[in-house]
Amino acid sequence: MMSPRRRSGVPVWAFALLTTVTMVCAVGCSSGATHRVERSSSSTAPSVPIEGDASNPINTAVATAISRVQRYWQTEFPALYDRPYTPVSGGFYGVDPKSGPLPPCAESAADISGNAFYCATEDVVAWDATGLLPRLQKTYGDFVIPIVLAHEWGHAVQARAGFEGATVTREIQADCFAGAYSRHAIDTREYPISAADLDRALAGFLELRDEPGTAATDPSAHGSGFDRVNAFQNGYEKGLATCAAYRDGSPAVIELPFRDEVDAAGGGDAPYADVVAGVPVDLEDYWSKLYPELANAPWVPVRRVVPFGPGSPPTCGNGPTDGFLLFYCVPDDYVAFDNADAMPTVYREGGDFAVAVLLATQWGIAALSRLGDDSDEKTSSQRADCFAGAWTASVLLGNRPSSSGYSLSPGDLDEAIAALLLFRGDGDADRQGTGFVRVEAYRSGVIDGARACLP
Ligand SMILES: [Zn+2]
Repeated sequence: MMSPRRRSGVPVWAFALLTTVTMVCAVGCSSGATHRVERSSSSTAPSVPIEGDASNPINTAVATAISRVQRYWQTEFPALYDRPYTPVSGGFYGVDPKSGPLPPCAESAADISGNAFYCATEDVVAWDATGLLPRLQKTYGDFVIPIVLAHEWGHAVQARAGFEGATVTREIQADCFAGAYSRHAIDTREYPISAADLDRALAGFLELRDEPGTAATDPSAHGSGFDRVNAFQNGYEKGLATCAAYRDGSPAVIELPFRDEVDAAGGGDAPYADVVAGVPVDLEDYWSKLYPELANAPWVPVRRVVPFGPGSPPTCGNGPTDGFLLFYCVPDDYVAFDNADAMPTVYREGGDFAVAVLLATQWGIAALSRLGDDSDEKTSSQRADCFAGAWTASVLLGNRPSSSGYSLSPGDLDEAIAALLLFRGDGDADRQGTGFVRVEAYRSGVIDGARACLP
């Protein structure tokens, strides 16, 4: 919006977000030599040979994921493309970028560092076995590994199917394939994970860049997090045939070019203080224009914004709000947030637009209150997320040029998606819906507008 950020952060917030019920709703390679590893953690999965350090547990996890994903495609590829599946045969390389050796297709350690990729010319899959994948696994949980590999297999499938398309189309189709595989893996309990595990893994997956030699500043390498999650969910819900039908422009992607090199380098976000002061003003401006269209009545501004510090949470309807980090107080008509810890942490780890979109969800709840919405907490929370998406679309489209100075970049949308996937505490998924569902609601607001948020 702020300014763009690359998918390089590790936005996992180490605090619990509490929400309530009555008064508030909140958002709530190896050590010199290459070893051949034959290992699998599952009796149901055949072993897969890995070129790399046999003692690195990440290579074991990848070998298991590869055998499962290959088995999936062995069955699904002939059904989808009416021809036999040829297993990937160029080798699987778990690389230590510091010591090598380099796999085929890689020209330098930089190609591997922080990366995982499929290379069609050599029919090779390679990954950073000491940097990227262990970090993703540690931060986002075990399921991020099979999602990453399923995405790379998406590219192997494209090579076998003769799929042609723009880079972004190939990327989102691979995301769609990864979504379809994930559904299979969860439904069959090949990976017995929870909805919260999936949310977390999906947030981590968004960090993946997967082409050897791709400049870190090339924004065309992938869709935005928004487009990528859309494609993943598409595959997850509709299956492989939907993915196979992808063409350039269908589904549409939100193409937000980086404005300049400085932007692309991921320079500074808007200062925290400016975000928490400016975004509420922009939300008021948005709602003052939208609400009359929805309700045929003027918008009544939210009475107060209450940033609070430790030990001094405001009361709401004369009751305590201890433990609440971000909330809208219905009886007293104010939005409050922990200005000392929670929101600064979201800003630091998630970026400026993560803060912005979480604030926007609270204005969504305020609007629902004004509209007399009396749906249950999960429904109202998702409607509020949808409204946050509608506000995002307004910023994206720049349709309030005389009153709003904000604009968006692809990095901002990634921040929004990660915020909705990750910003929650224990039990929030039950009350508010999973991050997966929240992102769907948000997307529907972005794409279809505010009216789509209401029944
Ligand atoms: Zn890719």
